[in-house]
Amino acid sequence: MKKVMAVNAGSSSLKFKLYEMPEESVICSGIVERIGFDDAIFQIKYNGEKHVTVQPVKNHSKAVELLLNALINFNIIKSYDEIKATGHRIVQGGSYFSKSAIINEDTLTKVRDLIPLSPLHNQAELVGIEAFMNVLPNTPGICAFDTAFHQTMAEEDYTYAIPYEYSEQFKIRRYGAHGTSHKYLSEKGEAYCENGKDRMIICHLGSGASITATNHGKCVATSMGLTPLGGIMMGTRTGDLDPSVFNYCVSQTGKTSEQIYQEFNKKSGLLGVSGISSDARDIMEACNKGDKRAILASKLWARRVADFIGQYYVRLGGCDLIIFSAGIGENSAEFRKLALDNIKEAFNVKIDEVKNNETHGIENVISTPDSAIKVVVIPTDEEVMIARDAYNMLLK
Ligand code: ADP
Repeated sequence: MKKVMAVNAGSSSLKFKLYEMPEESVICSGIVERIGFDDAIFQIKYNGEKHVTVQPVKNHSKAVELLLNALINFNIIKSYDEIKATGHRIVQGGSYFSKSAIINEDTLTKVRDLIPLSPLHNQAELVGIEAFMNVLPNTPGICAFDTAFHQTMAEEDYTYAIPYEYSEQFKIRRYGAHGTSHKYLSEKGEAYCENGKDRMIICHLGSGASITATNHGKCVATSMGLTPLGGIMMGTRTGDLDPSVFNYCVSQTGKTSEQIYQEFNKKSGLLGVSGISSDARDIMEACNKGDKRAILASKLWARRVADFIGQYYVRLGGCDLIIFSAGIGENSAEFRKLALDNIKEAFNVKIDEVKNNETHGIENVISTPDSAIKVVVIPTDEEVMIARDAYNMLLK
């Protein structure tokens, strides 16, 4: 039995989950939020109890010290040496990585190289890795890349129709994201496919959201693009647009391209269209009160999900399983129904309303036995995939 830490660092937060491997049992989990502030929030869940403290946390190194000290104070570990490996989530692995990689100078150089492609994420994730290296210098680690699972796409699936020199010179292409989740779900989905028929359309619908088509466990297409801004409409992101919308917004508003880019990332999607919230629960509440823009936002969201399901049905030459996952996909019967209502006629998909309504955060088939495509809700687990890779690559 060996303890492995899965880490997901953001610009001002650090989430962690400590596993006992290879059993894959979660010992504890938590998050440090508002890193850099005097009122940072540290939360740790252990033994069914949640402990929250508010205190200054200057930087990611201090956040790592804080969480490791908490592991000792709560008697979860006796010394830091008990943590045998760490696994770090990295959003952008570019074309360098088609699987997780052991952390060494070469890996870190490549992750650093990719910062321009993912400035919002890779930088913060590197800070997270360095913070762990400072506090646990002798503990080996791996990087698990959100893009790795999507590296099996064909050239015509990942190339943009821009001048080819740009694609080559600046490495512009569809990379996708949420790959660790899509891989986990495609593996879990196998149990629902019969006779080797496993063409899946996997809908990871959280605040960030993406849809992936897989065949025999390999990604053939995915909705996110060069960055997580592309694809379906999300909580605060636009998803795919006519590129001229961008220029036109810049020229009409007089804002800079950077400001509009930030608005497309942080002020668009469900939030932008509804003017209410990025959270699907708030949108549904407003819909139920008859709010017109919330209703439009929810319908638009469902159309975009259906568009991609339709596209991927064609790409796969059919579909044997549709998977719903992540915050909205796992919990919202209403949003699932909205999306499925848009495809039911074309694909003869039939939903068992009772099962759909009773499925919140659990694995469950929500289609009827005579549905042409089976539809299942599967809670995702990116952290266990990271811990698994860390264990298999470093400790087995
Ligand atoms: P991310 O990891 O991208 O932040 P999550 O997968 O955690 O996203 O999903 C978060 C989103 O899930 C929330 O913004 C909310 O819209 C949605 N969500 C969570 N619980 C529910 C629920 N019970 N009903 C509807 N939506 C929910």
